Amino acid sequence: MTTETAHLVPYDEAISRYDPVIGLETHVELGTVTKMFCGCPTTFGLPPNSAVCPVCLGLPGSLPVANRAAIEYTIRIGLALNCTIATWCRFARKNYFYPDMPKNFQISQYDEPLCTNGWMDVSVAGQTIRVGIERVHLEEDTGKSLHIGGVTGRIHGADYSLVDYNRAGIPLVEVVTKPVPGAGALAPVIARAYVTELRDLLRALCVSDVRMEEGSLRCDVNTSLTLRGATEWGTRTETKNVNSLRSVERAVRFEIERQAGVLDAGHKVVLETRHFHEDTGRTTSGRSKEEAQDYRYFPEPDLVPLAPPAAWVEEIRAGLPELPAARRARLQAEWGLPEGDMTSLRNAGALDLVEATVTAGASAPEASKWWLGDLARHANERGSELAELPITPDQVARVSALVRAGTLNDKLARQVLDGVLAGEGDPDAVVAARGLAIVSDDAVLAEAVDAAIAAKPDVAAKIRSGKEAAVGALIGDVMRATKGRADAGRARELILQRLS
Ligand SMILES: [Zn+2]
Repeated sequence: MTTETAHLVPYDEAISRYDPVIGLETHVELGTVTKMFCGCPTTFGLPPNSAVCPVCLGLPGSLPVANRAAIEYTIRIGLALNCTIATWCRFARKNYFYPDMPKNFQISQYDEPLCTNGWMDVSVAGQTIRVGIERVHLEEDTGKSLHIGGVTGRIHGADYSLVDYNRAGIPLVEVVTKPVPGAGALAPVIARAYVTELRDLLRALCVSDVRMEEGSLRCDVNTSLTLRGATEWGTRTETKNVNSLRSVERAVRFEIERQAGVLDAGHKVVLETRHFHEDTGRTTSGRSKEEAQDYRYFPEPDLVPLAPPAAWVEEIRAGLPELPAARRARLQAEWGLPEGDMTSLRNAGALDLVEATVTAGASAPEASKWWLGDLARHANERGSELAELPITPDQVARVSALVRAGTLNDKLARQVLDGVLAGEGDPDAVVAARGLAIVSDDAVLAEAVDAAIAAKPDVAAKIRSGKEAAVGALIGDVMRATKGRADAGRARELILQRLS
């Protein structure tokens, strides 16, 4: 229990005396149409146990057949991560008993992974860090247990448990990094940046929908501390199933503070899996970590070895899309936006939207202003993603064009966006229906100008005596009278004409 009661060492202090080493294991559900070894659909959210068959239920006598698309996706991932692709490898049987494993074993890969020894660059705080990739292997997902009753939703204290096997057998790729030493204080940020980059990469490769909240991208974070100057790395812990990018960063940070406390107290860090809790930001002890021998791996006897022909691998390589890092560099050069804006666009998931808005005729600064500003606020308020807002890049580009043409000012443009989001139609329809176009017609403006002058004779007198700066107050009144629609420049000219 010493690990649970140890005090936390403040982060900066922990980093001043210990060097963290991190490593990440990421599970990705592949977006294939069917499961890894049978023809069942992989659709998310189907009624429980409706997408199952004798193979994925592990019934006696059923035989698996490997999914070619899943193998192709895995090779695609391996190539994009600069890995070596095996010319011959085998699946392995990983034995363990778990209720959501209908076969009581999982078909995985052990000492013969499909892809090995690659790397991926991530940029953090202006520097590029190369994260080594140990392996990328292919396996099948397990089912899902649902614990009913009790307060925590965990098995402890539950009245009974239900098992849904729809997920059992969905192809799962595991991407394992090499240990990342020398990260220092940046370790938590590097961990987050790595998962972000990997997510973007997987999305660009079209191999997964990479939704952390639906569990199609799941991350385990290994953390250990070494006393500064020591030659041997400390014992690591593995924090399981960290479900958001922010949690990846928090989990590493917490483990550094906790392990420093354990080590300061003269205790040893226990090799174990831990659970991260979103609400408290803390990790708690899970189970002691199994060793490989506990799984009694052996080559899967029901499947033939996997030997992707070199020509096929080269064909897959030739078909790789532009990868995210290269794309960001190209877009930044084309758009001329500063690094900070690019980072914000990326974090907001707005790169595609801005690109489409620019293609539809807006300038990059205009497009990024609307998507990162008002539209991001709307998305926030609705608790949705930018891409889910009921507005298209074409419509945003049209609003931008109306501002450029002088038909709208920024304030009116915001109301047009509101209207489009409220389902009132295209920007031009909203402008017409709400009467939002700027009024520069003298006949209409004159009335408001005269009223403003009449209402503030003292201000008018100041302007007559040459104090032109006072004109702002009257323009403000004209704007209010026209509900923000007056052409401010023209209103100013009219006021000065009348008071000269
Ligand atoms: Zn099946």
